Amino acid sequence: MKKWPLHWKILLGMVLGIGFGIALIQIDGGVDFSTKFIKPFGVIFIKLLKLIAIPLIVASLIKGISDLKNISKFRNIGLRTIVTYVVTTVIAISIGLILVNLLKPGEGIDKATIDTLTATYANDSGIQSKISEANRQQSSGPLQFIEDMVPDNAIGAMSDNSLMLQVILFTIFLGISMLLVGEQQAKPLKKIFDSLNAVVLKMVDLIMLSAPYAVFALLANVVVSSDNPDLLLALLKYAVVVLIGLVLMVSFYSFVIFVYVKKSPFWFLSGISPAQLLAFSTSSSAATLPVTMERVEEHLGVDKEVSSFVLPVGATINMDGTSLYQAVAAVFISQALGFDLDFADQLTIVVTALLASIGSAAVPGAGMVMLVIVLESIGFPADKLAIGLALIFAVDRPLDMCRTVVNVTGDAAVSMFVAKSVGKLGEPKVENWDDNYQEVK
Ligand code: ASP
Repeated sequence: MKKWPLHWKILLGMVLGIGFGIALIQIDGGVDFSTKFIKPFGVIFIKLLKLIAIPLIVASLIKGISDLKNISKFRNIGLRTIVTYVVTTVIAISIGLILVNLLKPGEGIDKATIDTLTATYANDSGIQSKISEANRQQSSGPLQFIEDMVPDNAIGAMSDNSLMLQVILFTIFLGISMLLVGEQQAKPLKKIFDSLNAVVLKMVDLIMLSAPYAVFALLANVVVSSDNPDLLLALLKYAVVVLIGLVLMVSFYSFVIFVYVKKSPFWFLSGISPAQLLAFSTSSSAATLPVTMERVEEHLGVDKEVSSFVLPVGATINMDGTSLYQAVAAVFISQALGFDLDFADQLTIVVTALLASIGSAAVPGAGMVMLVIVLESIGFPADKLAIGLALIFAVDRPLDMCRTVVNVTGDAAVSMFVAKSVGKLGEPKVENWDDNYQEVK
C-alpha cells in the first residue's frame, strides 16, 4: 500500500467500506455491530479534523494577512472572493432551476409513492427538527446574520466550531492590527503563528494517514443506516437531476480553471481529490476544511495569503452544491404536490437559495434546514412542509455526500481563480508526513 497515492488508498477504503456495510446488513446483529464497533472510528477521525480546524484557521489567516504587508491588498482579495462566491452560487442555482424545469422530475411521481413517503417520513423526528430549526432561524431579524458574526469573547468563539465566522472576523481584526503596529512590534507574535501554522499542517498530514481506514468506517456506517432501497428507487429521477447539476457545476469550475487559470482540470481535480473524497465520506465541508487548505496550498500552489482567507470563508458561506440542490428540491416538491410556480417564484428561489447557502452550516443535513426557508419564501403552505420534506428525505444523505463534494470543490476552485487574479498562484510545494522524520526518530 505504501507507494499508492493517498486518493487511491482512500478510494479503496471507501469501496471496501461500502462492501462491508452491504455484507453487515445481511447478517443478524450486523447493524448493531457497526454502530458499536465500526462507527466510532469514523467519528474519532471527524473529531480529529475538527479539533485542528480553529488553530489552523487562526494561524494561517494571521500568517496570510501579515505576509501581505499592506491592508489594501487584503481588501482586494476580500472583495474578489465575495463577488466570485456570489457569482458561482448564482450560476449553481440557475443550473439547478434550468434542469428541474426542463426534466420535471416531480411530475412523474405517482400518488401512491407520495403517500408511502409521507406515511414513512412526515412525522419523522429528523424532519420535524429541521422545520423547527428553520423557524428558529427565521424568527430573527434580517441583520441577525451580521450581528452573529461579531464575537463578544474571542476565546468563547474559538471554543465552538460552529462559530467559524466569528473566529475569522476576530483573526482578521488581529492580523490587520499587527500590520498597523509595524513589523518590529508584531514580529514575535508573527513568529509564533508562523510556527503554529507549520505544526498544525503537519498534524493534518498525520491525521490523513488514518483516512483510508476512517472512510471505511464512515461508509460502512452510511450503508447500514441507509433507507429502504425501494424508496430510493422511487426518487431516482429527482436524484439524477441533482447529480447532473452537480456534475455540470464541476465541469464549469474545470472549464474556468482551463481557460482562465490555464491549468489542466485533471491536475486540479487530482490535486484536490483527497479533500473531495473526505467531503463525500463525512458530508461536512467544515470537517474537510483542514485537508482542503492543505491540498490547495501544498498541491495546487495557491499562496497562503489567498487560501487562508478564501477557504475558511468559503466553507462557511459558499455552498454551490447545496444551493443547486435547494433549487432542484424546492421545484421538485412543488411539481410533485401540484403547487404552481411562476417566474417570480423562481427568481425568489434564486435570491433565497443564495442567502440560504450563506446561512447554512457546513455540517451534514444543514441544506435541508435552509430548504424549508426557501420553500416558505415562495409561499409553500406551512401545513404541507413536512410532506414536502418527506418526499426527498430518503435520498437526502447520499445527495448530501455529493453536494458536499461540490461545495468543497467550489471553494478550492474559487481560491485558484482569486489567486490567479491577484498574481498569487505559484508552484506547488508538496510536504510529506515524514519530512524530517529521520532526524526526530
Ligand atoms: N453537508 C453540506 C456541507 O457541509 C451542507 C448541506 O448541504 O447540507 O457542505
